[in-house]
Amino acid sequence: TAKKLGIRQHVTYQQANDDNVAYHFELLQALQHSITCNDIHIALQPQVCIKTGEVVGVEALARWTLPNGQNVPPLDFIPIAEATGLITQLGEQLFVQSCQALCALNEAGYTNLCMGVNLSAMQFEQENIVDILKQHIADANMPPGQIEVEVTESIAMQNFETIRKQLNDLRSIDIRVAIDDFGTGFSSLAYLSKLTFDRIKIDKSFIDNVTSDDGAAAIVDSIILLGQRFHMNVIAEGVETKEQAKWLSDRGCHDAQGYFYAKPMPLPELLTWLKNYQKTPL
Ligand code: C2E
Ligand code: MG
Ligand code: MG
Ligand code: MG
Repeated sequence: TAKKLGIRQHVTYQQANDDNVAYHFELLQALQHSITCNDIHIALQPQVCIKTGEVVGVEALARWTLPNGQNVPPLDFIPIAEATGLITQLGEQLFVQSCQALCALNEAGYTNLCMGVNLSAMQFEQENIVDILKQHIADANMPPGQIEVEVTESIAMQNFETIRKQLNDLRSIDIRVAIDDFGTGFSSLAYLSKLTFDRIKIDKSFIDNVTSDDGAAAIVDSIILLGQRFHMNVIAEGVETKEQAKWLSDRGCHDAQGYFYAKPMPLPELLTWLKNYQKTPL
């Protein structure tokens, strides 16, 4: 019976696996199709200076809606796009959309905003990534200084020298570089100190518990200090309450992004939001 059980377990496992494969295959086909049709769009989330309440920028976040109306979260489809190499094409489309949105914001009179765009590790495997981005910025007639690329910590660990050169090349043409989800990766500070960033983004998971958990508070404190010492702007992501904003402001965190201020939204909605926005200093 043990053997039987073993076989049955094997079959069950195999079936579950097949279902998974089928699901992923379907999603992959749909993804491929949506990318071909340039059907994945960006939503924009405001970033605010905590002390003054001024809007300093927006982050572009990928949004995918299936023909049946179902939204697929980026945490589901970005990894598929990365695993299949589709991220190169998708990332470029989203970058172009972001430049165009920035253009529209500038034309509407919001000329001091910075546009944050997430880039995947795989996009840096294209050795001409800097030229590609440069070209899209030129096509959109945008000042590079208004573009901020966001890379996660783990990116630095692969191909360190290549990445360092690419990030430096981006900064040399005035593109800002932010380190995203800071504190969640496994990179050593020794590595990180050899890279230059303009901004640290503190991961939401620490912000969630910052006013209730001493551990989270200690980590956030340290990251803010680190940012100050290295002359980097520090932004907290996932700020949902006024208490969190106040806590961060008291400790010298510059900027914040989160539902307390606004959710990510399509450009037309953002324009209305900006028009009605009343800054409240903390
Ligand atoms: P991220 O870059 O760290 O983006 C922040 C995520 O936190 C976004 O989730 C945003 O919607 C969410 N968020 C912001 N404020 C709050 C809040 O107050 N409460 C809560 N609960 N959530 C908040 P989203 O849009 O689901 O994106 C998840 C991740 O997917 C992003 O994390 C990023 O790593 C990746 N991603 C999204 N768009 C792109 C893209 O265009 N390219 C690449 N390579 N990755 C992307
Ligand atoms: Mg990001
Ligand atoms: Mg982030
Ligand atoms: Mg995050």
